[in-house]
Amino acid sequence: MGLPDFSAEAEIDLRMSQSETKVIAGSADQRRVFVADLGGTHLRSAIVDQAGKIHFHFKQHTPAAKSAEDIVEALVAAARECDRQNTAAGYAIDAVSVVAPGTVNVAAGSIVKAPNLPFLSGFNLAEALSRALNLPAILENDANAAAVGEMWLGAARGRRTIVCVTLGTGVGGGIILDGKLWHGAHHSAAEIGHMCVDPFGGVACPCGSRGCLEVYASATAIVRMTREAKPRHPNSRLQIDSELTSECIYRAGVEGDELALEVFRRMGVYLGIGLANLINILNPEMIVIGGGVVNAWELFEKQMNHEVVERAFPLLADLVKIVPAECGDDAGLLGAAKLAFCWDSR
Ligand SMILES: [Zn+2]
Repeated sequence: MGLPDFSAEAEIDLRMSQSETKVIAGSADQRRVFVADLGGTHLRSAIVDQAGKIHFHFKQHTPAAKSAEDIVEALVAAARECDRQNTAAGYAIDAVSVVAPGTVNVAAGSIVKAPNLPFLSGFNLAEALSRALNLPAILENDANAAAVGEMWLGAARGRRTIVCVTLGTGVGGGIILDGKLWHGAHHSAAEIGHMCVDPFGGVACPCGSRGCLEVYASATAIVRMTREAKPRHPNSRLQIDSELTSECIYRAGVEGDELALEVFRRMGVYLGIGLANLINILNPEMIVIGGGVVNAWELFEKQMNHEVVERAFPLLADLVKIVPAECGDDAGLLGAAKLAFCWDSR
C-alpha cells in the first residue's frame, strides 16, 4: 500500500475491486465508508461521505472483550447497523476503516501492540473485518488518524507539515510531513507522549520510562498532580471532591481556584518543553492540540507559549502556529474516512 497524500488539493483515487466500480463511479459525495474508532472505553462508529459529512453516528462502550473475536463481532455488528440505515437511505458502503490505540502495522492491517486491549496484540484486524464484511478494510493508529482528520477538515486545513498532539487519558501524537503521515521504520513514530521532559522528576510512566510528557500533560496526570498539590492549598474547593476528574479541576480553575490553576500552569510548562523539542526537530507549520484536556486551553496556553519562546529556535517559534483542534471527538473518525478515500490498494 502506498502512502496516501492528504493535501487538500490531492486527487483522491480509490482503487477498488470490480464489484465496487459502480459505486465509485457515482458523484463524489456518494462515496461512503464505514469508520470506527476503537477506544479503551468507547467504540464509536459512523458512515462518512467523501465531503466529510458524518451519518449514523453510534457510540457504545467498548465490549468487555476477552478475545480479538469479541472485538471483531462488535465492529461487524456496528458496521451492519450502519449499513442497514445507509442502505435504507439509498447508499452503499465502499470500504471499512478502523482506528485503534496502540502500534499498528498499516501495511499489514494488523495491531502490533495495544496496551489497553492486549488480546489484540499481533491480531490482523483489517483482514478479519474484510473477510466478515466482504469489503476492503484498513487499520490505523487513532492519534495518527486524528492528525489526518484535523488536516482534512479541522484546524490544519490547507497545511502540509503538522504535528498533532492528543491530550486524553494518555498523550498521543501524529506527524504529517509534506502531506504524508509519518509511520517510522517500525510503525511506531510520533509517540509524543513518551518524549522525556523531566529526567529528574521521577514520575513513572506506563511505558516503563520516567518523566515522559504523558505523566505531566494527560488527563490522568492533571488528576495526579492535583492530588499531589492539595497540601499546599488547604482552602481549595477541590479538597472536598472525592472523585477528582480533569473536567472538575478545569471548572475549578475557570472559577479561580488556585490549586487547579497551579496544576494547569505546571502542565503548560511541560507541554511547552515538549512542543519546543518538536518544533526544533520537525519545523512544523502548525501544531494542533486535541483531546479532552484541550478544553482547558486558556489555563495552560500562557505557560506553554512561554516555554516554546524560551526553548525553540526563535525563527521557528515565531512562525509555527500552535492551535487547539477543531474536530473534537470526531477527528479520528474523519481521519479514518480520509485514509480510506485516499487508499491505494496496490
Ligand atoms: Zn512513557
